[in-house]
Amino acid sequence: MLAAGGEMPELDCLFCRIVAGGVPAKTVYEDDQALAFEDINPQAPTHLLIIPKRHLPGLAEAAPADAPMVGYLQLLAARLARERRLEQGYRTVLNVGPHAGQSVFHLHLHLLGGRPMAWPPG
Ligand code: 5GP
Ligand code: ZN
Repeated sequence: MLAAGGEMPELDCLFCRIVAGGVPAKTVYEDDQALAFEDINPQAPTHLLIIPKRHLPGLAEAAPADAPMVGYLQLLAARLARERRLEQGYRTVLNVGPHAGQSVFHLHLHLLGGRPMAWPPG
């Protein structure tokens, strides 16, 4: 299956495999550009991962032409937060590189909500 944009998915990328349907996920939203699903190890009552269908290792690799996609993921997070009535607030997180603990190298935005969160993050 081709990812959106017509590019081949990375066969060894976990999130490309979720996009292609080869690895199961609890999908909560899907369109031609993006997919949102429950994190397998939730850190808050709401913990969604919002990803582009097209493979991109992370924010550090994003090009100026990716700006609409990165913005789209953020606005999708806001929409999903509204639908989940996270009126008390929520956090969107993009981990980049080893110091931030990025462990999956397909760009993904975390949406965390449903509990108070400390600042600064650890
Ligand atoms: P990172 O640390 O790269 O910012 O976030 C990767 C996230 O992916 C982690 O929160 C982790 O729990 C989640 N994750 C890892 N493997 C899977 C999986 O197979 N399915 C789902 N739904 N989430 C996963
Ligand atoms: Zn990928």
